[in-house]
Amino acid sequence: MHKLILAIAAALLVVGIVLFAVNRTSHAPEKSVTETPSRTIVEHSGIDESKVIDLTYNFDDSTIYWPTAKPFQWEKESWGKSAGGYWYTAARYAASEHGGTHLDAPVHFGEGRLAADEIPLARLVGPVVVIDVSEACVKDADYRLTADDIVLWEKANGQIPDNSILLVRSGWGKFWPDKKKYLGTDTPGDTTNLHFPGISREAAEFLAKQRRIDGVGIDTASIDHGPSKDFITHRVLNGANIYGLENVANLDRLPAKGATLIALPMKIKGGTGGPVRIIAILP
Ligand SMILES: [Zn+2]
Repeated sequence: MHKLILAIAAALLVVGIVLFAVNRTSHAPEKSVTETPSRTIVEHSGIDESKVIDLTYNFDDSTIYWPTAKPFQWEKESWGKSAGGYWYTAARYAASEHGGTHLDAPVHFGEGRLAADEIPLARLVGPVVVIDVSEACVKDADYRLTADDIVLWEKANGQIPDNSILLVRSGWGKFWPDKKKYLGTDTPGDTTNLHFPGISREAAEFLAKQRRIDGVGIDTASIDHGPSKDFITHRVLNGANIYGLENVANLDRLPAKGATLIALPMKIKGGTGGPVRIIAILP
C-alpha cells in the first residue's frame, strides 16, 4: 500500500515538474485573447536579436520600382470591428516582380535558366561576402565593381568561398527612398537618365567563370549600372544560373565576411523574380 502511495506521489511530482516547465517555456500569450492585445513580442527567442540584420526595405507607397514598372499597390479590404464584434483586418496587394528589395531569378536574363520557384533553397542560404566600393561611388555615380576590386578584397580576406552570396556596397542605401538621388530620375517611364553604381562585365565574367558563387546583390536598383543599355552583367550572371538581389538594405551593417545570408523570395511559380526577405546573421 505504501509503495502505491509513493508511486502516485512520485507520478504527481513528475507531472507537476513537467507542467511547470511547459508553462515557463510556453509561447502562448499570458493574457487571455479577449483582453487588449499587446504588441510586445513574446520573450524568448533562440537567437540573439542584435545579430540578425534586416536587409529588406518596407513595401509601401514610397518603395522604388524600375521606372517602367507599376509601383506597389496595397489597399484595405476589411479594417476594424466586424459584424461579429471581433477585430478583423485584411488587405490586397499587387506589385511588379522587379521593385523594392527583390530577387532576379536566373531566367530574368538567362533563357532556360532557373525561375524564382526553382532555385534550390540551399542556394538561397550561405556565407555572405561584402565588397565595399562606396568611396569610388562617391566620385562616380555610374561606378562599376571591377575584377580588380574583387582581387583586392580577396587579398585582404581570402578567396570568396564556394556557394557564397556576394554583395556590393555602393553606399546608395543612404539615398533610399529618394528616387531622384537613388535612380538619377524620378520621372515615371524615364530610363534614359538613370545613374547609379553596378557591376562591370569583367567582374561578372570573373565571378561566373573563376568562382562558384550562388548569387550577387547590390544596394542599388540593378546589378548593371544606371546607364547600361545591354544589361550585360545580368546576361552573364543569370546566364550562369546565378541569381541577383537588388535594392538590398542596410549593407553598412555587415562585415566584409563571416555573416550568413538567408534570402527567401516569394515563391512565384515560373517567376522571373519577386519580393525577397533577406536577413543576415552576424558571426
Ligand atoms: Zn530585378
